[in-house]
Amino acid sequence: MAVTRSTPVHTFPGVGEVRAKKLEKLGLSTAGDLLAWYPRDYEDRRQLYTIRDAPLEGRVCVNAMAAEHPRLTRVRKGLELVQVKVVDHTAALHLTFFNQGYVERAIRAGEEYVFYGTVEVQGRRRTMVNPIFERVGKQGFTGRIMPVYRLTAGISNHLLASLTQQALDCAGSLPETLPQSVRQAHGLAAVEFAIKNIHFPEDEEALALARRRLAFEELFYLAVGLRFLKKRRDQGGEGISLPARPKEEFLSLLPFVPTGAQSRVMEEVAVDMTGNRPMNRLVQGDVGSGKTAVAAYAGWLCAKGGCQAALMAPTEVLAEQHFRSLSQLLAPAGVRVGLLTGSMTAAEKKKARAALAEGEIDFVVGTHALISEGVAFRRLALIVADEQHRFGVAQRAALAAKSGEDTAPHVLVMSATPIPRTLALIIYGDLDVSVIDQLPPGRTPIETYVVHEDKRQRMYGYVRKQVGEGRQVYIICPAVEENPDAALPGEESPALNLKAVKTYAGKLQKEVFPELRLGILHGKMKPKEKEAAMAAFAAGETQVLVATTVVEVGVDVPNASLIIVENADRFGLSQLHQLRGRVGRGEHPSCCVLITATWNPVAMERLRTLASTTDGFKISEEDLKARGPGDFFGNRQHGLPQMKLADLAGDMRLLSEAQEAAQSLLDRDPQLASPENRPVWERVRQLFADTPDIFN
Ligand code: ADP
Ligand code: MG
Repeated sequence: MAVTRSTPVHTFPGVGEVRAKKLEKLGLSTAGDLLAWYPRDYEDRRQLYTIRDAPLEGRVCVNAMAAEHPRLTRVRKGLELVQVKVVDHTAALHLTFFNQGYVERAIRAGEEYVFYGTVEVQGRRRTMVNPIFERVGKQGFTGRIMPVYRLTAGISNHLLASLTQQALDCAGSLPETLPQSVRQAHGLAAVEFAIKNIHFPEDEEALALARRRLAFEELFYLAVGLRFLKKRRDQGGEGISLPARPKEEFLSLLPFVPTGAQSRVMEEVAVDMTGNRPMNRLVQGDVGSGKTAVAAYAGWLCAKGGCQAALMAPTEVLAEQHFRSLSQLLAPAGVRVGLLTGSMTAAEKKKARAALAEGEIDFVVGTHALISEGVAFRRLALIVADEQHRFGVAQRAALAAKSGEDTAPHVLVMSATPIPRTLALIIYGDLDVSVIDQLPPGRTPIETYVVHEDKRQRMYGYVRKQVGEGRQVYIICPAVEENPDAALPGEESPALNLKAVKTYAGKLQKEVFPELRLGILHGKMKPKEKEAAMAAFAAGETQVLVATTVVEVGVDVPNASLIIVENADRFGLSQLHQLRGRVGRGEHPSCCVLITATWNPVAMERLRTLASTTDGFKISEEDLKARGPGDFFGNRQHGLPQMKLADLAGDMRLLSEAQEAAQSLLDRDPQLASPENRPVWERVRQLFADTPDIFN
């Protein structure tokens, strides 16, 4: 059959309805999808060994002849064995196949095969269990470098490899998407070569060339897209120039004196917002550095100038907290603060929307619903994205487009997560950056302790002591409900014993702290319940809050002085750092206790790193090293198109090459109008599908 890029996978031999469904789950519906499903790794099956010389470690290819007809035994129902002896001039090898009855007929005495598997020695015998085998001269998947794909249940690597091999029939007709000039200038392989060799590399060199071309390509389209975004911003519409106002007027509302760093950042923000270009600013400041005050200032400036401001928080809990504290802070200045979250009743939402459209709310606080639900503003001049280091270029662009007017709103992105430079360059490449590099005075540093399970009772004593002194305590659990069967993939013991909020809170209240007022907070509660739980804790009505990581970012209860994290080894370091930032926000000496049941030295070492530093940058670098950028940003949530091959944190040199190439191409053809560059235009448009008007 003639395969083209759009040939559906279910027309491939061996793919029935069931398999087609499973492939669909991986996003593989057509031959083109298969070709774009790059291997995650490779297996070198090139070396063919004689039986005697075959190493006993790892899987190897052995070239040998079947010395007999295979013997089939039914051991019992559901267990079939096929055994066969194979030989070469050096030795004999005894093969066993479990539940692969067809082998009895597939292997024929006197024929030569390549067997791929692990050679073991049992007594004086060499053996191999369940090898892959192919007739000599008809080899497809032995004697070569084999791709290893990401799979799903019911789809084997062998199947995927053979489908991909068939799909490669159309490699010759793949359109070349990189302009010849770019390929020449940067020594990049042609598309056909690259696609063939990324799947079935001829050798290491070919693989390196293929990988380089394809990774470059990803970075190149990204770079071109980002240049368009930046250009649009540079020439783009006027900003809304807000009237300047003496800062003292705002400062008099604050219950504290701002730090030098806060003052400086406020001034930078004021310069942006009173100028006539839209502000695009990132405020980076570690947990507790006082970013909210900067957001409040920007919102105040905006409201006082007769415009509207919107603040987006990553969770409803945080949105509600901001709503309470901003109302309190700004109401005396006549600023009308409103709330709009996805979980409000339809009637409440309708009312809030109407008030926004009428201009009766000056400063609205909400979650992403604020943007996604098509809210109309009367005159939106400022968008603040709080605690959102994932709020990437594409989201900002989409947002700016929503403002509806010719004037783009000012944008302020606030992040507590320090981002390694390489990544920041891409994600925030089009932003100005302010740093709050100073904590409010009078804070005693948070002491962090790594504590083993067996010291639990002492820790409970410490909780009582803190509460006795009038303080409050967070206890963080990794799970909501107990699920004894929830063995994670790769987990050694199925008995995970993860602390689950619901049961643990009940047990604590009954058996450990009958005299204390405990609260509970987790993501599966109804929004109203969440709000009530958080409000009760903020008001000091509950003394101990047993919660999941819903309190991870932004939550601010200055009276809380102790946070205990159960199963701490289950969390990333940056996440623990954020959690730790929930305490030490007032004048009370505070403490973070990381409880773990593990004795694993690597895990312990990670936790101790956290105990030894409060430097958020250092911590996120450790995280990046240990877990990679994917984990750091969550899947796709950095708002950038997903990179399949390029490693944003690692391919620094390739990245700058791609940026140069993008620049020089756009210098020559700013609109990508020439026919040769049209494919680039097309790819960039696909990549930035969330930003429909990227080329305007
Ligand atoms: P984050 O940067 O983590 O968002 P917040 O803005 O929530 O930090 O501030 C943390 C706590 O510090 C809050 O309770 C806030 O009221 C307080 N705070 C902020 N700035 C100052 C300051 N200059 N002096 C004293 N307290 C401050
Ligand atoms: Mg904050």
